[in-house]
Amino acid sequence: MPGGFGEPCARVGRDLLRAPGTGVPPAGLRWDLSVDTPSGFLLGMATDALRFARGADPALPPERLTVWTAETVQDHLAGYEFFQWPSCPGHTHLLKPVLAAGEARWRCPADGREPGRIGDLGA
Ligand SMILES: [Zn+2]
Repeated sequence: MPGGFGEPCARVGRDLLRAPGTGVPPAGLRWDLSVDTPSGFLLGMATDALRFARGADPALPPERLTVWTAETVQDHLAGYEFFQWPSCPGHTHLLKPVLAAGEARWRCPADGREPGRIGDLGA
């Protein structure tokens, strides 16, 4: 995996493994990275049933790329009817990935609460 994608994927992957979602996680969910000329790389996730990836720039600052990666994973997971991730603690909606004070964080879209950095959810 090109250098810039390593940390963002590790952080989002940790949250995916530890933080609660609603419903049943898709079976066989995996990262999907390919070279796409001329735009560079396509990064996303895939299962045998569904693949979703979009143009990604590994040269983005790590915190910004982490927010982008979390958004891309949420977009992929939105394609499954019975799974949502990550659940906002105490609410029924999803947390939103945001860049706040230079950090990639999860934020409640209703009350602005931030339960943690992306990569530290459920730790
Ligand atoms: Zn909330």
